[in-house]
Amino acid sequence: MRAIVFLLLVVLVFFIIRFTLNKVIQIRDHNKKLATDSSEGKTAEAMVRCALCGVHLPQSDAYYDGKDTFCSEGHMNEFHNEKSTHSTED
Ligand SMILES: [Zn+2]
Repeated sequence: MRAIVFLLLVVLVFFIIRFTLNKVIQIRDHNKKLATDSSEGKTAEAMVRCALCGVHLPQSDAYYDGKDTFCSEGHMNEFHNEKSTHSTED
């Protein structure tokens, strides 16, 4: 019986260590990312322009419809609606 309690304790300690290590690695990666974001992040990531409102944003945050980029899904839909109403007027 005592052996089982000891085994459970060992497993528990193992999980606590694993959890702590994961947290430490997570925080370290996060800090590293923050450091790169502030120093070279701006030049490393391509900036794109919203086809509707013209705001500049990182490519990873932009919405891409295959031709144009947008700052939000709403602007992408708005842009397409505007285009379709224009084409029906012609
Ligand atoms: Zn926009």
